[in-house]
Amino acid sequence: MAGLACATWLHRAGRPVLVLDASDAVGGRVRTDITPDGFRLDRGFQILLTNYPEARRMFDYGALKLKSFRSGAVIQLPDGQETTLENPLHAPLMAFAALASPIGTVKDKLLLGKLVAQLAGRPPEQLLAQPSISTLEFLRQYGWSEQIIDCFFRPFFGGVYLDRELSTASNFFEFVFQQFMQGSAAVPTLGIQQLPEQLAGRLPAGTIRLNTPVAAVTEGGRRVHLADGETLAAAAVVVATDGPAAARLLGAGMPALPTLAARPTTCTYFATVGPAPSHGRNILHLNALPGALAHNVSFPAESGATVAPAGQGLVSVSTHGEHGLSEEELTARLRTELVAWFGPMAHMWRHLRTYRIEQALPVYAPGQPVQQELRLSDTLFRCGDWVSYPSLNAALGTGRQVAEMLLA
Ligand SMILES: Cc1cc2nc3c(=O)[nH]c(=O)nc-3n(C[C@H](O)[C@H](O)[C@H](O)COP(=O)(O)OP(=O)(O)OC[C@H]3O[C@@H](n4cnc5c(N)ncnc54)[C@H](O)[C@@H]3O)c2cc1C
Repeated sequence: MAGLACATWLHRAGRPVLVLDASDAVGGRVRTDITPDGFRLDRGFQILLTNYPEARRMFDYGALKLKSFRSGAVIQLPDGQETTLENPLHAPLMAFAALASPIGTVKDKLLLGKLVAQLAGRPPEQLLAQPSISTLEFLRQYGWSEQIIDCFFRPFFGGVYLDRELSTASNFFEFVFQQFMQGSAAVPTLGIQQLPEQLAGRLPAGTIRLNTPVAAVTEGGRRVHLADGETLAAAAVVVATDGPAAARLLGAGMPALPTLAARPTTCTYFATVGPAPSHGRNILHLNALPGALAHNVSFPAESGATVAPAGQGLVSVSTHGEHGLSEEELTARLRTELVAWFGPMAHMWRHLRTYRIEQALPVYAPGQPVQQELRLSDTLFRCGDWVSYPSLNAALGTGRQVAEMLLA
């Protein structure tokens, strides 16, 4: 996404650009597979927050036919009971103040309203530029009870960060909270890969060379050596790979980063025959049960997205972090949890595919700068979420900034 964003801005300014991608399709981590029986499976549960400033600059939302999730979540509580929160970040007082809501104290509910008011008018860049502590520390210092942290913040933001410990930096928490408040969470009707496909489709034919791994960048960004032995000359090079690949390509020429560590996640898909259990509500299901492996569950076809063949439904189950299980063991454990959660029909769900994504999101720790240096020399640049914070918005934004530096 960072590389495509950079190429798009350069092309818009009339500059010639060549995109080299090691993979067989555009998108990097933003990919969708089509199975032989017609399911469209995103490689991991991903959403676009429609309010992302960089996404609004970049995408034609109408052409993507975005399907939004209902704002809110159904939460399975530690005692196994379920509660539904409608609009918790749009109208928190209504969502949590309902007498029936078993989550949080009166103070917790008031604090949510306070944060919504505090974040309302603030520019997103200002939120990101703040000094940070861990999200967990931030939530505790703000005054929230352990109950609302465990039953709402941990399952909700733990899913966004792929980090249920909530060790991710608090400036990113405030940014994401605001983005959820001010927009919706959506996926293109044909799957998440439509995002990079839309950008790629605007570049002239021949601009993108797929299946073209780069082996080295030399002469300070004047020469690119492809894995097949070909060498290309360039006026400038933008390294828009993931962090570990950039470290290999740039070697000693790359300034040190606080970390290149990344968070893993696993997404397990099942097919249902007939309607899925939440019957068209298209709401995210979150799990606050300690020790559970089904951390969040969604039914992607319920939004009206064209992701399952007629008459069948799709279940997406995310398990964040390390679980140490084989695919078979994880599927069996998930099925037991899903039967307990959604009823005996989950016995009938057919396992479709499991995606284990090792480098899903770069670690973004407290104190980490919101952006590292993008310009390595006048002819060599880098961009991507790993030089900023773990989000599509960062990938798109760093790509745009590098294009602006080149144009300047
Ligand atoms: C499961 C999952 C869920 C996510 N959920 C969300 C979400 O809900 N919201 C959100 O905002 N973000 C989410 N993200 C994060 C988001 O997808 C990333 O921040 C973003 O896609 C990063 O884009 P990038 O361009 O920086 O890097 P990448 O997507 O990693 O792209 C790097 C590119 O470099 C290419 N490459 C690597 N090495 C070479 C080489 N040697 N030669 C040539 N090409 C090479 C790769 O093929 C790839 O195309 C999620 C990510 C995952 C995996």
